[in-house]
Amino acid sequence: MAQYSPAIETLSVDELAALRWKKLRYHLEHTYRTNAFYRRLWERHGVRPEDIRTLDDYRGRVPLVRKQDLLDDQQAPPPFGTRIGVPPEQLAGIYWTSGTTGIGQELYGHTTADTFYYGHTWTHGLYWAGVRRGDRFFNCWPGTVGQLAGPDSMTRGLMLLGANAIHVGTQSTDDKLKHMRRFSPQHLAAVPAYLQRLTAACEEAGLVPREAFPDLQSIVLATEAYSADWARQMEEIWGARLQEMYGSTQQGGGLAFTCERGAVPDGRHGQMHILEHLSYVEVLHPETREPVGEGEEGEIVLTTLTRDASTLLRFATDDKVVYLPGGSCPCGRPFAAFLAGNISRYDDMLKIRMVNVWPSAVDAVLFAYPEVAEYQGRVFLNDAGQETVTVRVELKPTTPPDRREPLRAELERQLRGQVGTRMDVVEADEPLPRFEFKVRRWTDERKQGRQRVLYTAR
Ligand SMILES: [Zn+2]
Repeated sequence: MAQYSPAIETLSVDELAALRWKKLRYHLEHTYRTNAFYRRLWERHGVRPEDIRTLDDYRGRVPLVRKQDLLDDQQAPPPFGTRIGVPPEQLAGIYWTSGTTGIGQELYGHTTADTFYYGHTWTHGLYWAGVRRGDRFFNCWPGTVGQLAGPDSMTRGLMLLGANAIHVGTQSTDDKLKHMRRFSPQHLAAVPAYLQRLTAACEEAGLVPREAFPDLQSIVLATEAYSADWARQMEEIWGARLQEMYGSTQQGGGLAFTCERGAVPDGRHGQMHILEHLSYVEVLHPETREPVGEGEEGEIVLTTLTRDASTLLRFATDDKVVYLPGGSCPCGRPFAAFLAGNISRYDDMLKIRMVNVWPSAVDAVLFAYPEVAEYQGRVFLNDAGQETVTVRVELKPTTPPDRREPLRAELERQLRGQVGTRMDVVEADEPLPRFEFKVRRWTDERKQGRQRVLYTAR
């Protein structure tokens, strides 16, 4: 087993819990003293740090913070509001979120130490993935250092490990492949949709990935859910192990990473180990707000334990995960985990004709077919005001003409059977947009449609 930080990774579950509690206690006191935003919030809820004697007190009494609370605070006074927690002259970095919800971007300030920790989170996961000094690591995410925390913290993690980061995210897919052939990377980072795209591009160029890139050992995925079938297929095609990480700007880098067992050990989704010595994570049922049990779904509520600036206590992330308790991975590490392949956002869910539809479920159905290159879903109200779903599917050019119509009909049947609601599948007659970082395959036009229907009815 490749331990990056043996002093932490060989702790027992209880020892790790004790360490985390000690850090959390300190963090509560410190934040109360230094951070006007939290002091005001807790005073409003009648909470003082000395009242918090157990984790149950913490969960029961310390209020949750949501994205909107942070955005509201940012206005008074702009740009940071009152939650930065350090004097301005200590700020050594500014980041903002990539804005998945479209309601606005939170700003995060970093001290020099925050920026170090942010890269340090990654070193664990990269090392577990097999990245070593001198390795060639291809970063297909758009951007390197900059205002987006994901690519920036990964870059810093690679630097701390002494690996060669080769940033190709802003280049065309053809140019990426050219550089990959030139440098023969040992590791690659891409979102699942982009890995899919890269695979299709290899096929079009007549390249067999496992032969064209013989040094490739690992592919690090992030930001999207994927099925175990798809992952196994990718491992086979690329001759490399899939790894996965979960991180966020809010967290300041990476929060959870797969170990050397990868994202699909034994053909099933594995675990992303939460770096619990750096953050305190609760996984709560979105309605009852109680901690979920083993194998159950809940929302990540995040408390950062190492951030000096823009610290977060009980931030409700809106990210949906499946929780696994500490010590349950055969690797023996004490960290609790998220099930690999299953991260999504609560606000991604579409309610269609009373059925909860997760885009990741549609992905799993469609991308199980190797002929499917990309798709786009649209939910709208038809002229009769009924909820309608159209899924435009782009098939790979290699798909024979006589296979296309039967495949279209089969996809429609499978979606209905597995997702539980009717979707009209049509073949796209032009190439669909590709995604390099955050995926947006769905548009929901029901709101506009409703206004139109109301207007017509009047
Ligand atoms: Zn493990």
